[in-house]
Amino acid sequence: MPLPSEKSSEKNVSALLDERRTFPPSAAFKKSANWNDPAIYDRAAKDPEGFWAEQAKNLDWFTPWTRVLEWNVPWANWFVGGKLNVAYNCVDRHAHSARRNKAAIIWEGEPGDSRVLTFGMLEREVNRFANALKSLGVVKGDRVAIYMGMVPELAIAMLACAKIGAAHSVVFGGFSAEALRERINDAQAKVLITADGAWRRGTVVPLKAGVDDALTGTPTIEKVVVLERVGKAAPISMKQGRDLWWHDVVAKASGECAAEPMDAEDMLFILYTSGTTGKPKGVVHTTAGYLVGVSTTHRNVFDIKEDDVYWCTADIGWVTGHSYIVYGPLANGTTTVMYEGTPDFPDRGRFWELIDKYGVNIFYTAPTAIRTFMRWGKEFPEKYKLSSLRLIGTVGEPINPEAWIWYNETIGHGRCPIVDTWWQTETGCIMISPLPGITATKPGSATRPLPGIIAEVVDIDGKPVGPGGGGYLVLSKPWPSMLRTIYGDPERYVQNYWSRYAGKYFTGDGCKLDADGYFWLLGRVDDVMNVSGHRISTYEVESALVDHRSVAEAAVIGKTHEIKGQGISAFVTLKEGITASDALKDELKNHVATKIGAIAKPDDIFFTAELPKTRSAKIMRRLLRDIAEGRVLGDTTTLADPSVIARLKDQAKDEG
Ligand code: ATP
Ligand code: MG
Repeated sequence: MPLPSEKSSEKNVSALLDERRTFPPSAAFKKSANWNDPAIYDRAAKDPEGFWAEQAKNLDWFTPWTRVLEWNVPWANWFVGGKLNVAYNCVDRHAHSARRNKAAIIWEGEPGDSRVLTFGMLEREVNRFANALKSLGVVKGDRVAIYMGMVPELAIAMLACAKIGAAHSVVFGGFSAEALRERINDAQAKVLITADGAWRRGTVVPLKAGVDDALTGTPTIEKVVVLERVGKAAPISMKQGRDLWWHDVVAKASGECAAEPMDAEDMLFILYTSGTTGKPKGVVHTTAGYLVGVSTTHRNVFDIKEDDVYWCTADIGWVTGHSYIVYGPLANGTTTVMYEGTPDFPDRGRFWELIDKYGVNIFYTAPTAIRTFMRWGKEFPEKYKLSSLRLIGTVGEPINPEAWIWYNETIGHGRCPIVDTWWQTETGCIMISPLPGITATKPGSATRPLPGIIAEVVDIDGKPVGPGGGGYLVLSKPWPSMLRTIYGDPERYVQNYWSRYAGKYFTGDGCKLDADGYFWLLGRVDDVMNVSGHRISTYEVESALVDHRSVAEAAVIGKTHEIKGQGISAFVTLKEGITASDALKDELKNHVATKIGAIAKPDDIFFTAELPKTRSAKIMRRLLRDIAEGRVLGDTTTLADPSVIARLKDQAKDEG
């Protein structure tokens, strides 16, 4: 595949944007990058299985595989016959190498307490907790639910499960009792691991109180292990015979525990998707393929070097935290930073303070966070040096070009490559992303599928659209870290992902290809509007709005319109210090018309202090559509703050 020419950038499909620059890697970065030879794309495309087998050799196997892939659409077996253990690969093998005293986890608590666990220390802690789980009757194949804040014990608990062959199901600590109950029952978990509470902006999230509520209807739970994190700040009650303190169960546990040899296809974990589009799905990931996928992409997309300090700001309750705080970095023996709190506590400079404090080299966050930082203003990052940063990344939603440029200049100081990484809970690891030593980036484009990944943009009939076209993003060949099924619901697995196009995985995302073959993700297919026969993506209109100097964030939806089919409604939050007015509404409508064309001019604009988001901070357009259409709201259990949607509902009524 030829490399995109750096001059043809005027063909960017994102016609709305004035931003036409491309950002090739610097000669110095290219020279020292882990992957810097573009031939790797061709090599992997010619023999994807051979390519993945080569990557799999970076792991330690108890028994080698006999076949790389068995593929009976849509059921995959990767590394057939191979035996290995994920915790052994993430911890033990480093603890028994020169990395023994290297920091594995650098943890910062919200109140400012901190802890460093070396690989040697982590090995001991994982083993003690693994033995504790065994003493509670957990055996290979059981499911263990984990509901905690961002404390090192969360990673320790996950690794302990992996060590003994139990599958974990981590439920984000911000979820309600009801959401927790639903997930425990779906996974039929035997044990629940939690904490008394978690720190959030100086106050306590009462995790254990939520657990007591959730466990009123969970027949499979036998034992609950409770970590003491907040102590006197939130006294809790312990149920006799069911609840045990973490410090008690590990007190007598041995620091030695042999790793359970797991089959390559044994289940490693279940994780429920964000619920942006509907009821969450229990995505199943297995042992070998998952670890091959996350370790390979972590090492090469983030260009990890031995002495790097790497920080991903996601919560471990989401797949980004599983793959790129815990499993990917630790499999590579990388120092991974874990932070308990929010970016605005005690002040809006906290992230930048932490980057300077720990000398963070690689920083990975989300567009929603970047837009928030933009709204707060440059003065916060400008108080810090940020000179240790070498590469910065983003994931979760399409990044608006305006936000990309801000990130590049204000955080990366124009010297750090940006990796905009597209992937899903279901894909397990990054699928589309620049390779920082090879790819010339374009703001707003995740660029190209990684080596070994075969992605296409197809039309409604499944025909590839080719450069310049737009349609649906599909993955045309199986990849090691793909989901294997939906837990307990194989039919939904087949139905959701494999029934649209024969033999191809349907991502549910819309995408355009530019003349250079770069991929421009447009958000979910449901979020693409049809205005008088023109297909307009909500993301494009949002990017045009965010491009205006007054706008912090925007959510755009299509609303039934008698004449046009769909009209465009925009929900807009303004930057601090900007006042809403009808004149500003008109100005914004015209701004979109100038940027994209009259066809994309919003019919209505609503100013709002906040947008409804999932607990993983993604904009929930489906609820906005329900409001705009006056329908009953769909599943709201994953909504971060239900009051936002209630306020918007009232406002929509008032403003008609
Ligand atoms: P659900 O499937 O329950 O509706 P969800 O899709 O939001 O929830 P995730 O698996 O966390 O749950 O998110 C994956 C989705 O996030 C992708 O399908 C895509 O829409 C979006 N996404 C992630 N990264 C990017 C990116 N770099 N660019 C564009 N979109 C992205
Ligand atoms: Mg999804």
